[in-house]
Amino acid sequence: MKTKLTHPVFSIVSACAEEMNVKAFVIGGWVRDLLLERPCKDIDIVAIGSGIELAERVAKKLGGQYNVNTFKNFGTAQIVYEDYDIEFVGARKESYRAESRNPSVENGTLEDDQNRRDFTINALAISLNAGSYGELLDPFNGLKDMEAKIIRTPLNPDITYSDDPLRMMRAIRFATQLNYTIDPASIESISKNKERIKIISKERITTELNKIILAKQPSIGFKLLFDTGLLHFIFPEMVALHGVEVRNGKSHKDNFYHTLEVLDNICRTTDDLWLRWAAILHDIAKPPTKRFEPEHGWTFHGHEDKGSRMVPKIFADLKLPLNEKMKYVQKLVLLHLRPIVLAKSEVSDSAVRRLLFEAGDDIDDLMKLCEADITSKNEYKVQKYLKNFELVRQKLKDIEEKDKVRNWQPPISGEDIMKAFSIPAGREVGILKNAIREAILDGVIQNDFNEAFGFMIKEAEKLGLKIKE
Ligand code: ATP
Repeated sequence: MKTKLTHPVFSIVSACAEEMNVKAFVIGGWVRDLLLERPCKDIDIVAIGSGIELAERVAKKLGGQYNVNTFKNFGTAQIVYEDYDIEFVGARKESYRAESRNPSVENGTLEDDQNRRDFTINALAISLNAGSYGELLDPFNGLKDMEAKIIRTPLNPDITYSDDPLRMMRAIRFATQLNYTIDPASIESISKNKERIKIISKERITTELNKIILAKQPSIGFKLLFDTGLLHFIFPEMVALHGVEVRNGKSHKDNFYHTLEVLDNICRTTDDLWLRWAAILHDIAKPPTKRFEPEHGWTFHGHEDKGSRMVPKIFADLKLPLNEKMKYVQKLVLLHLRPIVLAKSEVSDSAVRRLLFEAGDDIDDLMKLCEADITSKNEYKVQKYLKNFELVRQKLKDIEEKDKVRNWQPPISGEDIMKAFSIPAGREVGILKNAIREAILDGVIQNDFNEAFGFMIKEAEKLGLKIKE
């Protein structure tokens, strides 16, 4: 282990701890990630004594140009060293009360500090002390669990999860990121304690949820969230996608598992959190738009439109940002069927032009979403649909080269219209602006100022407006 402590801060911490006659260890995520060979920029140092004093001495030894940010209430201190975030804390013993996840804290031993950790793989520590430098302290067999790829709590899981219910989300998050199994006793305990997730702030829950979504295969996490019942509390709209109904021998697909397949598919082509969210939400309005039509079977008419309108409430509930990221997700949900329509039959240039205009720069992401949405088990069908989408991509490319409607603005602005007819801003300006845009998108006139101007004069006549000479 000694040879792995290559970061210069470790020998400095070791020397300072020696001078202060306290014991110091590197603990938690950094040790876990060292053993897993994952890069980690957060180093947690625990001192059997004052973490703040140790941090101050370390900063001095580092050359004085590093600030120590202290958080006296928590007894912690932080040094930002190059791109590393180094946190210092005194070893603690924690005890919890039922109604809150804020424990009462007192000074403790290294063992006390390891006891308060959430999982055996997160409770590993490495000594930074002279006689035992580099020695691994693994009281709960975290190393063995790592080899067996198991998430297990150091103490009785009912105590660990009930003390701090966020750990239920963290268990599922680590299982998803690392592709580990959760110990059956933990699964049982999470199912039992699921309701306690209510005492955790939405922001913290969503931080974990987003980490699940950013993993290589997020379906692992969503299935665990569903099976343990946590998803019912944190994201009920998604739970509503689950299940299949059969009527007159006709059934529909299970939209929960379909959504997870689409999500896993899109993860192969993008690391972007918001495109992944668009995949999660693309069919979110299928349950509220579901109808049974005896001649056709199950239909979900308008689910793209309703889904797009459901996005703001879902984002607000989950404390996701209500900004342009949300609008982007709304747009993709709204448009997610459009390329399918283009793929189905002979389409006019104007339909392609219109989609390019509406999707703008997000057209490539929309195509990725549509391709990810193909989840047929029939490989022949999958290949056929993918080929169709290739044709759609080609059509989009051809029309874009010809007409340049992506990020396009019509050649005549509202200002131009007001000037030409000497009228103030108002209803007529809007009508004329729309008419010009629609005429160009429909290919009635060319995307050209003079043609648009002539067209505008004719349209204005219908409104009783004459050009000002
Ligand atoms: P990542 O770096 O992937 O976000 P992490 O768990 O390593 O995950 P932190 O959240 O900074 O990162 O936690 C650092 C360490 O603190 C963990 O390894 C664990 O030992 C401990 N820890 C964090 N949160 C909790 C918690 N809710 N309950 C108990 N221990 C925790």
